Amino acid sequence: MTEPKILISEEDIRRKVDELAAQISADYEGKGEVTLIAVLKGAFIFLADLSRRLTIPRDVEFMALSSYGKAGATSGAVRVVMDLRDSIEGKHVLVVEDIVDTGKTLQYLLDLLQTREPASLKTCALVRKKDRHEVDVKIDYLGFDIPNVWVVGYGLDYAEHHRTLPYIGVVEPRESRG
Ligand code: 5GP
Repeated sequence: MTEPKILISEEDIRRKVDELAAQISADYEGKGEVTLIAVLKGAFIFLADLSRRLTIPRDVEFMALSSYGKAGATSGAVRVVMDLRDSIEGKHVLVVEDIVDTGKTLQYLLDLLQTREPASLKTCALVRKKDRHEVDVKIDYLGFDIPNVWVVGYGLDYAEHHRTLPYIGVVEPRESRG
């Protein structure tokens, strides 16, 4: 497998995560604990870095979702394969996502979490493919807008490859999208 081409360097990611953490810490200051919910697997590295840079009280939780679409194409039908262990009722919840593509997955998750009556519900995404959005999902804290390419690294994979790269790179999947 060929090496991915660097799209966002390790240094740029570090700087952006610092900025996001400072902004989130300022916004939640004095509100009590924020529950960070990351969607596995892709968001685990972003969550680890972001959560450690926050200066506010925080708790980390995980969910796993699976989409019914083909690899690389989200049909919009999403299934929870691992749910939260505890209630989020009355809590300040911040969903931490690695990547927003069409927006369908994040919108599904927000609709689901909203029914559980959190005190507040916001979103943070490291990257967004702006041209691909089909659902107008609200991203309160955004790292980078990227073009419509398949990205890997910093938690993101291509068929389970490249997840642990320190940067975000581009690969060209042999199978074309959707
Ligand atoms: P959406 O529902 O926003 O279309 O799709 C979001 C999901 O598709 C992400 O959580 C991720 O799992 C997957 N995805 C979309 N684009 C990429 C990409 O460029 N790289 C990787 N690794 N996953 C992607």
